Amino acid sequence: MKQLRKTTLAAAGLLAAAQAGAWNAAGHRAVGTIADRLIAGTPAAIEVRKILGSNLRTAAVWADCAKGVSTTTFQYQGAGAFPECAIYENPASQKQMEAFVRRNHANCTSPHNTESCHKQYHYTDVAIQRSEYRAGYVGTSEQDLVAAINAALAVLQDRAPAPPFHIAGKREALRLLAHYVGDIHQPLHVAAVYVDRQGKVVDPDEGSFDPRSETHGGNDLLLQVVQGGVPKTIKMHGDWDNVHGAVPWDQPPAAVLKQARAVAKTTGDLSTWSTAWATESLRLGAKAYAGLQYAPESPAHQHATTLPAGYADEVRTPAQREQVVKAGARLAQLVRALWP
Ligand SMILES: [Zn+2]
Repeated sequence: MKQLRKTTLAAAGLLAAAQAGAWNAAGHRAVGTIADRLIAGTPAAIEVRKILGSNLRTAAVWADCAKGVSTTTFQYQGAGAFPECAIYENPASQKQMEAFVRRNHANCTSPHNTESCHKQYHYTDVAIQRSEYRAGYVGTSEQDLVAAINAALAVLQDRAPAPPFHIAGKREALRLLAHYVGDIHQPLHVAAVYVDRQGKVVDPDEGSFDPRSETHGGNDLLLQVVQGGVPKTIKMHGDWDNVHGAVPWDQPPAAVLKQARAVAKTTGDLSTWSTAWATESLRLGAKAYAGLQYAPESPAHQHATTLPAGYADEVRTPAQREQVVKAGARLAQLVRALWP
C-alpha cells in the first residue's frame, strides 16, 4: 500500500479502507500457499516450519497486518478488521508487530516520502519509461521493496541487513520475505506513471523532477467502475491489488501447481534476484499503463483515469494470475536456495 497517511486510524472501518493495499490477502495467501505446496517434502519445508512455527501462507500476510499498528501509540489497533490477521491478534503476536513497527517507523535514510518507513518497504516507484530497475532512478530508495527483500534475505543468511532495516530475527525476516516477494510481482508496486497537472505523462528522470508528478503507485489515479450494480470511484492501485477472484487458490488446482513448477529458476546470486524481478514487473507495468488517459489534476491531487476497452479481462486479470503464480514459484525457489 502506498497511500500517504499521517492520521491515526483508530476505527477499524477506516483502517480497512486504508489498508486495502498490496496484493490483497487472497493474493498474498495464494502466493504463500503455492510456495508451501512447491517446497513440501524438502529440507526447506522443515526449516520454514521450524522458523515460523507455521507456513508461508500464514506468514505472507504478516507485514500487512503490522500496518494495523498505530505510528503514534505503537499499539495494534487492527483487531477484528481483517480476518486473515486474526491469527496474529493475541498479546504475544501483537507485541511482535508493535516492536517491528516501532523499530521501522522513523528510520528511513533516504528521502522518498513521508510514509512510515516500514510501509515504504512494500514498493518502489520506477518510471514506466525505464527498461530496468536501477538504484538511483527517481522512485527508488534505500528502503524500497528491492532493498527490503535483500534485507530479509541477509538476516536469513546470518548477515546484518543494510540500513535502514531493523529486522529482529529469522522469524520476522521470513514473514517479511513471504510478503515482499508477493508485492514485487504486483506491477504497480514497482512501475509508476508520472503525470503533470494537465494529465500528460512525463519522465521524472529527464530534466528537473517535480514531486507533484508522482501518482503514488496509482493511488492518485481514480477509476469509475460499477461494482455489484453500484457506480463507484476506486483507485487504480487498489484495482490491481484486488485479485478479484483471479486466484481462488486456497487449494491450488493441479494445473496451477504445474505452471508454478515450470517457472524458470532465477539465476545469479540471491542478492540479485529482487532486482531481476523488479525489472520484469517494471516492463509489465508499462503494459498495465498502456493506453490509459488521465484528466487534469483535481484539487486533491488526483487524476480521473480512463482505461482502454477490455482492460480488466485482457490486461489486468491475466497479468494478476500469472504474477501470483510466479511469486509463489519464486518464493519457493528462494527458500529452497536458502535451505537446500
Ligand atoms: Zn505489501
